[in-house]
Amino acid sequence: SFPAEAVPQAPEDALFGLMRAYRADESKDKVDLGIGAYRDDNAKPWVLPVVKKADEILRNDPDLNHEYLPIAGLAPFTSKSIELILGSDSPALAEKRTASVQTISGTGAVHLGALFLARFYKVAGANRTVYLPNPTWANHNQIFGNVGLPIATYPYFDKQTRGLAFDGMVQALRDAPERSIILLHPCAHNPTGVDPTQEQWRAIAAVMKEKKHFPFFDCAYQGFASGDLDRDAAAVRYFVEQGFELVIAQSFAKNFGLYGERAGCFHFAASPGPDAGGVAARVASQLAILQRSEISNPPIYGAKIAATVLNDPALYAEWKENLREMSGRIISMRKALRAKLEELGTPGTWNHITDQIGMFSFTGLSEAQVKRLQEEFHIYMTKNGRISMAGLNTRNVEYVAKAIDKVVR
Ligand code: PLP
Repeated sequence: SFPAEAVPQAPEDALFGLMRAYRADESKDKVDLGIGAYRDDNAKPWVLPVVKKADEILRNDPDLNHEYLPIAGLAPFTSKSIELILGSDSPALAEKRTASVQTISGTGAVHLGALFLARFYKVAGANRTVYLPNPTWANHNQIFGNVGLPIATYPYFDKQTRGLAFDGMVQALRDAPERSIILLHPCAHNPTGVDPTQEQWRAIAAVMKEKKHFPFFDCAYQGFASGDLDRDAAAVRYFVEQGFELVIAQSFAKNFGLYGERAGCFHFAASPGPDAGGVAARVASQLAILQRSEISNPPIYGAKIAATVLNDPALYAEWKENLREMSGRIISMRKALRAKLEELGTPGTWNHITDQIGMFSFTGLSEAQVKRLQEEFHIYMTKNGRISMAGLNTRNVEYVAKAIDKVVR
């Protein structure tokens, strides 16, 4: 029998707990720097103008219905999604050696990939351990842990420079047993905002090739980091050019602002070779089986919105504009926060705020300082000192800088 009485209380998810505390705070000064969702300069969620247009188009379509999607999802969505990340001229696409499945946003894509590897990554002599960057998106630990894959970490963030721990990272990749699974954030690393340079990516790829490691890219911020979709995809494209067999979890939550619609994809690319197309087809067949038992078929509406934009050149161009607006506002907030801290003469160096990229900045604030910011100043951030840059705006950035100045002194 199952004594449900014996089920222990689980701790609340840290990030969602923080959101709850923020909502309950009645201060008019409160600032939410916790959640990784874009906010406009009025601290409001932003529905991308191009998403509004796509929504209009769909709603006016007399044929719109609520039927099931196929198991692998909406084909005009998945096919354009893989072009978006690999580039439409990718050799992997030309040689038809890829497989794509629509998933429950990026989380579902990471999960499906983890499940697939847990089931099939059993090559003789292959190490099944998944190496995660230290630190990483906290959910990675739970997702890979849930499917029973062993987890290890590689150094990523250098506390001294508040930049990439490049040497330590490369050394760890060298020391890991051959054919390990290496999780990589291709751009806008969460939570640090620190990305390898192009040259560093080349060195990372070289070690991974030498050690026959398997790249698992988790791409949640394409176009959102630099404002340029191609630039943010450069690392993945480089690995494909180098002939790696690899997988990609792709989220459209941030770059389309489709958070709650759960639009995402999981992609597989085979290495070039005579049977590469066959490999991809077999992988696709197994992904379909896993998908069927997990969710049967993915949600339709967000995928339709994204597909409408991705398949229409005019809307696509407009999306790029919207992306530049979001990334541009974030970059201007980075500059403003750094400038205010330097103006105040806040102890320490603050160049990392503008050096880091994407949604987050790893400020270097201690847990005690984070606690004071919340209790005395109603400023909410995760206790590792990560701030969501999108929570800053022209009206609160000075208040935040002054509060940081006070707790740092
Ligand atoms: N991966 C990383 C690194 C993330 O930062 C996120 C979101 O914060 C995700 C995946 C998944 O997000 P979603 O499931 O909302 O697409």
